[in-house]
Amino acid sequence: MKQDFYVVLGVQRDASETDIKKAYRKLAMECHPDRNNGDKAAEEKFKLVTEAYEVLRDPDKRASYDRFGMAGVRGQGGAGGAGGAGFSSMHFDLSEALMVFMRDFGLAGASGFDSLFGGGERTRRDRRRGHDIKVGLKLTLAEVASGTTKTVRIKSLDSCPECAGTGSKPGTASVQCRTCGGSGEVRRQAQSLFGQFLTVSPCPTCGGEGTVVHDPCLRCGGDGRVKGEKTIQIDVPAGVADHHYLTLRGQGVPGPRNGPRGDLIAVLDIRDDPRFERHGDDLVYDLAITFAQAALGAEVQVPTPYGQATLRIEPGTQTGVAYRLRNKGLPRLAEGGHGDLHVRVHVWTPSKLTAEQKKLLEKLRDVEDTPPLKEEGGRFWDVIRRALGGGGGGRE
Ligand SMILES: [Zn+2]
Ligand SMILES: [Zn+2]
Repeated sequence: MKQDFYVVLGVQRDASETDIKKAYRKLAMECHPDRNNGDKAAEEKFKLVTEAYEVLRDPDKRASYDRFGMAGVRGQGGAGGAGGAGFSSMHFDLSEALMVFMRDFGLAGASGFDSLFGGGERTRRDRRRGHDIKVGLKLTLAEVASGTTKTVRIKSLDSCPECAGTGSKPGTASVQCRTCGGSGEVRRQAQSLFGQFLTVSPCPTCGGEGTVVHDPCLRCGGDGRVKGEKTIQIDVPAGVADHHYLTLRGQGVPGPRNGPRGDLIAVLDIRDDPRFERHGDDLVYDLAITFAQAALGAEVQVPTPYGQATLRIEPGTQTGVAYRLRNKGLPRLAEGGHGDLHVRVHVWTPSKLTAEQKKLLEKLRDVEDTPPLKEEGGRFWDVIRRALGGGGGGRE
């Protein structure tokens, strides 16, 4: 399903936090359940704009959304299924969405949200949803360059095979909760700034599940979960940045009694590559060449994240010159394309000489030109000045 959070909120992609807040406030007021008499479509829209707001107001989540789209915030392959036409949010149930709205635009005074949700108790979904699992993923620069699939082994709770996660002894079934009639929620009318105000809280009898276990499963004690271990494959797109995270929705711990699964959150840890300095999508490689190579020119091999590349050193190359290998840097995840690999040249002076080398160098000394003085200026000193000043001065 395609829902662009920027479109949902009706803001530009470069909208400021204030713009986002304003847009959300306006939309949320329009489709707030209190104003729409329990209209289902309005409720769905309220949940969706709240989800969009929760992502775009948070700089980290927004960056992840901008880079990876829905996969960055809802998880890969996550959000399929329900939805179809019209608005829908996979993410929030009504009580959570109301809570977000109250938090940021607190109609406080009227009714603080503590009293609204029973002294800050967890909402229905929070109660039933399993925990998130966080894993660290170590990546090499080569893996960042090409993208990769990582396999992780996770020990956590899994659905009980004895009762298929229901928590009820096989052959028996849980029964509908009589307090809430199976909805899991208790709704009450109260007074607010809008007039009639809807409060939603989890059912105290069934804890929001809508059903009660009568005859608990002996293997899991009615929880519906047992200890387990599983292997998960995580697709890492090319060009990711350090400390970024990928969310695999629904790959975390299952909730009790077939409650919704938490998420698997993979935090990326990109190992330093001693060969390269990383500057965003660009890389820098320091290359030492001999005086003869610098003076005569040469073809040399340089490493890139994609394997070796051949670089032509021009005759008369000075220390400090940087050659640019286009598109040999890291992939640019957002805009597409690649960064560049800059090769900084350093002329190497040998500290040990064989007798033959010494003799040849002495011969060279007797015929070579003297280097230019600084006050005379010239190309050599231009290059050195740029190298010392760190300025550009690259060569193609
Ligand atoms: Zn069981
Ligand atoms: Zn109940």
